[in-house]
Amino acid sequence: MTVYTCPACNELFHKNYLSGTFPGGKEKEDIDCPSCGHTVATEMTSAVLGTKALTADEKTAYLASATKSRT
Ligand SMILES: [Zn+2]
Repeated sequence: MTVYTCPACNELFHKNYLSGTFPGGKEKEDIDCPSCGHTVATEMTSAVLGTKALTADEKTAYLASATKSRT
C-alpha cells in the first residue's frame, strides 16, 4: 500500500480505486488530500481514484515502520 503525506497539512492517506475500468482508455486522475483537498500526485488510470485518510491504527503502524527503517 502506498502511503501519501500531504505537504500542505501532513495528513497521511492512501488511494483506493472507486470503480472498475471504464471503456475509453486512461485519464489523468488527481490524488487529492482527503483532509484539505491539496493535489499531492496524479496517476494515469482507467479507474476512478479516491483517497482515504489512514485510521489512527494505520498511522501508528506506518510511523512505526518508517522509524524502524531509518535506524
Ligand atoms: Zn492536506
